[in-house]
Amino acid sequence: MKEIFVLAEHRGGELRDITLEMLSKGRELAQNMDAQLVAGLLGHKVAGFSETLKKWAHQVVVVEDQRLENFNADAYQMVLSSVIRERQPDLTMIGHTAFGVDVAPPLAAELDLPLVTDCVDLQLRDGVPLAIRQVYGGKLSAEVSFVGSQCMVTVRSGAFPVSGEDLQGQVVAVDSPLAGEISYRKFLEYIEAAVGDVDITQADVVIAVGRGIKEEKNMPLVEELAKSLGGVLACSRPVTDSGWLPADRQVGQSGRTVKPKLYVAVGISGAFQHVAGMGGSETVVAINKDPNAPIFSVAQYGIVGDLFQVVPALTEKIAEMKGN
Ligand SMILES: Cc1cc2nc3c(=O)[nH]c(=O)nc-3n(C[C@H](O)[C@H](O)[C@H](O)COP(=O)(O)OP(=O)(O)OC[C@H]3O[C@@H](n4cnc5c(N)ncnc54)[C@H](O)[C@@H]3O)c2cc1C
Repeated sequence: MKEIFVLAEHRGGELRDITLEMLSKGRELAQNMDAQLVAGLLGHKVAGFSETLKKWAHQVVVVEDQRLENFNADAYQMVLSSVIRERQPDLTMIGHTAFGVDVAPPLAAELDLPLVTDCVDLQLRDGVPLAIRQVYGGKLSAEVSFVGSQCMVTVRSGAFPVSGEDLQGQVVAVDSPLAGEISYRKFLEYIEAAVGDVDITQADVVIAVGRGIKEEKNMPLVEELAKSLGGVLACSRPVTDSGWLPADRQVGQSGRTVKPKLYVAVGISGAFQHVAGMGGSETVVAINKDPNAPIFSVAQYGIVGDLFQVVPALTEKIAEMKGN
């Protein structure tokens, strides 16, 4: 039977969102390919994770080993190469995360499998997986087909909505193929980035400001909007680079990932590195003077106009409505 193998990612005792995102997409592909969906779980004392994962996959393959307690790309590669050689999945999905980009390329090279990185979508053409990835800073999408019957992809965080927690998969324990110590790399500790006075990842309403704000002295304009909506202020990278907001307010690939109920993007173009951190928001409103700005393609509501006119008008209207 055909197989889709999804590598579960966990850190600090929690399954990472990317795992269920990949399993949700994997489920859809598996249905259409008539394939079995398998979650691969590597770790130590991870029974709790297998209980969760079995609701999302037909099978959970667990490799328990103390040397897998914390992510180590060398150890993961050794285990995964053995498991994948044995199972021969048609498609292997790994997160395009700090972990995934560490392990997927050497693993694909070792197994001599074609690898497409940072996929934003996966489709089937004639029953065979086709990867979609962005090129030229997100301006174009490329469809990439694979040579051979097996392939591997890394998947961008937030690319797929999470749904489909209704399976009762079987949990299969596999002996760890690791022998001896992993000598090349050692895990020392996780250093969590300090959370400042405001944790944008927990907010229901996020007002994000970009380079369109032009100067630091204009920042109160968006602060007022955030206040009127009861939201927190976040930003794109140029704003933190300029020192107008601290690094813990930056949304995106090299910043925080937020999934608020409402995300308002003010003067932000919508580069894929930014969208990577906010694409999972429930409702996105974009304010931008350029009607072709990519942010409009991820927004449910768009206002094409000068933020210096739109934002104060919006703040005033909200205050008026609240007053009423
Ligand atoms: C490895 C790497 C990691 C990165 N990580 C991140 C990240 O985590 N987060 C992130 O945000 N970026 C990140 N970037 C940078 C990213 O590529 C973009 O450069 C950045 O997101 C652009 O920010 P911006 O949209 O604010 O600015 P711009 O792209 O300059 O867009 C400004 C927008 O404002 C609009 N505008 C200008 N004036 C007005 C006005 N008066 N009224 C209304 N609209 C106006 C313009 O039309 C434009 O669309 C990363 C880049 C790299 C290479």
